[in-house]
Amino acid sequence: MTDPRQTAAALLGKIDWQSEVSGFCRCPGESLHTHPTGKKDCRVNVDGAPTIYCFHASCAPAVAASNRALRRAMGQSPWEITLPGGRVLRSGDVLQPSGTVLPRAVIQAKARAEGRDAGEAVLLASITMLATRFASEMFATFRWPFAQILSDSPLLVADRDPDHQFRTWLRLWPAHSTVWIGDVYSTGKPEHRTHFRPVADWYQIGPVMGNYTCGAAFKPGSFQRSNANIVGERFMVVESDTLAKDEVGAIFAYLHRRLKYPLHCIIDTAGKSLHAWFDAPKNPLLENRLKAGLVALGCDPKVFTHSQPVRVPGAYREGKLQRLVWLKD
Ligand SMILES: [Zn+2]
Repeated sequence: MTDPRQTAAALLGKIDWQSEVSGFCRCPGESLHTHPTGKKDCRVNVDGAPTIYCFHASCAPAVAASNRALRRAMGQSPWEITLPGGRVLRSGDVLQPSGTVLPRAVIQAKARAEGRDAGEAVLLASITMLATRFASEMFATFRWPFAQILSDSPLLVADRDPDHQFRTWLRLWPAHSTVWIGDVYSTGKPEHRTHFRPVADWYQIGPVMGNYTCGAAFKPGSFQRSNANIVGERFMVVESDTLAKDEVGAIFAYLHRRLKYPLHCIIDTAGKSLHAWFDAPKNPLLENRLKAGLVALGCDPKVFTHSQPVRVPGAYREGKLQRLVWLKD
């Protein structure tokens, strides 16, 4: 039985282990990096679904090939390692931050009981763990404080007046979209149809029908803000209840620069948080994996409830303006 850490080192060279199962390594695609390489840019985990992960985007094909080689090498024979205190970790088990071993068999049994794919469940648990382990490097590498977001905006929007804010934001939607704007409870009864209108109507009306909107367009004639009524254009609105305005920007930058999700705008909610509007993932499987990672980094899982109300720019919240602070060119 081969120690999985030796298998990883045989493939990747010297590994600077940070825990029993996770460490920094040289990126197998380092020669493809288009930005300077830091010592903590690439990490390998041997627990769960064994994974090499690098902060650079340009090396992705080389990293993917190495991941296949790593999983093939480790998959050849089952292994187990004894951790301090006598805990035993077997191939596929996930080591939790608390030090507890989460056995693969338990993850798989739970998934099957819930009608989910067992292999995918192990991968999701591995993504959660990967995101938890690289969080501090991610927040340092992609740091994007609020003042920097304001000054980096391709278009200067933060000082525009409320009507101008609202109409600028409306232009993000395709002209035919039916958009909901209202207050949280402006939904569910036929009289709420007046809150579901085409973009052109809203352009005339202005930001006066409520403080909230939704990242998804609805079927024309809807009066209920539910996932069943969503059709066509959809944004992924990323937010966090726990991260400060100077912290959450790192997640926006990571999604935009590393994962290449098109960023449309960032909205200051006039409260404690910022919301970033991205293109929504097209593939439900990838969306689920992204969710596992974002939640582990401190994002609100409600991001993935498509009919979730979010703050609309141009409306006032207790005397403060909900406004765009970053807008794409
Ligand atoms: Zn790399």
